[in-house]
Amino acid sequence: MDLKEYLKNPDKEKLFEKVFGEIKKIQEKFEPFITISEEQAKEHLKSKGSDFLGIPISVKDNLCTKGIKTTAGSKILENYIPPFDATAIEKIKEVGYLIGKTSMDEFGFGTFCMNCAYGIPKNPLDDGRSCGGSSGGAACLTAALDSPHIAIAESTGGSISCPASFCGVAGLTPTYGLVSRYGLVDYASSLDKIGVIAKTCFEIAYGLTKIAGHDERESTSIKTKKIDYTTCLDKDISGLKIGIPKEYFDGVDEEIKNEIWRAIKKFERAGATYEEISLPSTKFALPSYYIIAMSEASTNLAKYCGLRYGSTLKIEGTYNDYFSKVRGKYFGEEVKRRALMGTFYRKAGYRDKYYLKALKVRGHLINEFKEQFKKFDCIVTPTMPMIAPKFTDIAMLSPAQNYAMDILTVAPNLCGLPHLSVPCGKSKGMPVGLHLIGDHLQEEKILQLGSWLEK
Ligand code: GLN
Repeated sequence: MDLKEYLKNPDKEKLFEKVFGEIKKIQEKFEPFITISEEQAKEHLKSKGSDFLGIPISVKDNLCTKGIKTTAGSKILENYIPPFDATAIEKIKEVGYLIGKTSMDEFGFGTFCMNCAYGIPKNPLDDGRSCGGSSGGAACLTAALDSPHIAIAESTGGSISCPASFCGVAGLTPTYGLVSRYGLVDYASSLDKIGVIAKTCFEIAYGLTKIAGHDERESTSIKTKKIDYTTCLDKDISGLKIGIPKEYFDGVDEEIKNEIWRAIKKFERAGATYEEISLPSTKFALPSYYIIAMSEASTNLAKYCGLRYGSTLKIEGTYNDYFSKVRGKYFGEEVKRRALMGTFYRKAGYRDKYYLKALKVRGHLINEFKEQFKKFDCIVTPTMPMIAPKFTDIAMLSPAQNYAMDILTVAPNLCGLPHLSVPCGKSKGMPVGLHLIGDHLQEEKILQLGSWLEK
C-alpha cells in the first residue's frame, strides 16, 4: 500500500504493527538502520490525538532526534542523545512517528555507504551491491519496505539522488535554504540540504510540504510562501521545455543512456519539447565541489575534540595530545583524509590557489545554469553514470576514483538547485535513475515531470 491509499482510510494501529513487523526482517537482511526506535514511536503515537495520521518516518542519522541516539554514522558521536528535534523532524512529527535512524557514510562522506562506523546496508535488489551513499540506509529501507513510509534524508553533493537511483526509488533534494538545517549535524554548511526519499512522487511532495518553510533559528532559511507540493502532480506536461546537457552523457554506461533517451522521448510524446544544450564548466564541478566540501567539513569537524563535543578519553598530556588521541581513535579513515585535505586547501598560500578558485568555478556553474533556465523549465540528465556497483568492485577503487563517481550530481548541489531522481527503466536487472534539475524554488516543475514519468 502506498501513502496515498493509506491516507484515504488511515488505520494507525494496524500500520504500526505491520511496519515494525517488516522492519525487523529488513534489518536482519539488509541493515538499513543504526537505531530502531519502536518505544519512542509507540509513545509518540499514544501521546497524539485521534486525528493524528500515524505515518511511519525514518530519519538519516545526521538529523537530531529528541531522545533518540544521533551518531551521524560516526563513533565520535556514539553516545549522543539530542535533547531536541531538528526543525524538519519537529514538523514531520505532526503527521508521523519516527521508526528509526538510518545508516549513512560517516558524516556523509561517501558515495556507496561503505564508510560506515556501524553496519553497511545492502541493496535490497541484489545484496552483493551497494545502496549508494551517503543516505544509503534511507534508500535501502524505502525500497525494501511495503508499508507507506517517508524517509527524511540529506544531500551535500548527491547523497539523496545517488542512493535513490541505485535502489530504484525517488529522491528529492530541495533548493538550498527551503528546508531549515537547524538540528542537522553539518557536513559542509553552504551545501547541505535536507530532503526526502520515498517510493512515489506523491510521498515526496507530501513530505516536502510538511518540512519546507522559514525557520528563525536558521540564518540561511528562505522566506517563501507556503506551497502544497502535492497539487502539482499528474498535471499535463505539454508545453514544458527540457534542456539536455551533452556533457552529462560523457562516460555514462550505454544502457543507462538508452533508458534516459527513452524517457526523454516519452516526455516528447506527451507534448514537452527538448533541445540539446551545453554546460561547458561541468568538467570543473567535481574538483570545485571536493575542495569546497572538504574545506567546510574540516572546519565543521574541529568541534569534535573530546572536550565540548564528542566521545572522550582520559585527559592526559597537552591539549593537542589529547585532541589527537580522541580524533585518532574515533574518526574513520575517510574523515581523517577529508579533515587533512580540507585544512590544506585553506592554508595560507593555498587558499587562493584552491579554495578561492573553487568558489569562482561555483559562480560560473550557477551562471551557466541560470542562463539555461531563462529558456528551459527543467534540465534532464542521468542521475549516476552507472548502476549500483558490487561491493567487491568498490573495494578496488582509489579515493579519487570514488570521488569521480559523483560527477553528475555535484553541480546541481553546488548551485543549490532542486533536483529529483526518479526510477526510469533497468540495466542488467538493476534500476536506472533519471535526474530532473529545476531552477531555484521550482520544485513543482520537477515533481510534475517526475510524477508524469511514474504513470
Ligand atoms: N559523495 C559525496 C561526498 O562524499 C556527496 C555526499 C553527500 O551528499 N553527503 O561528498
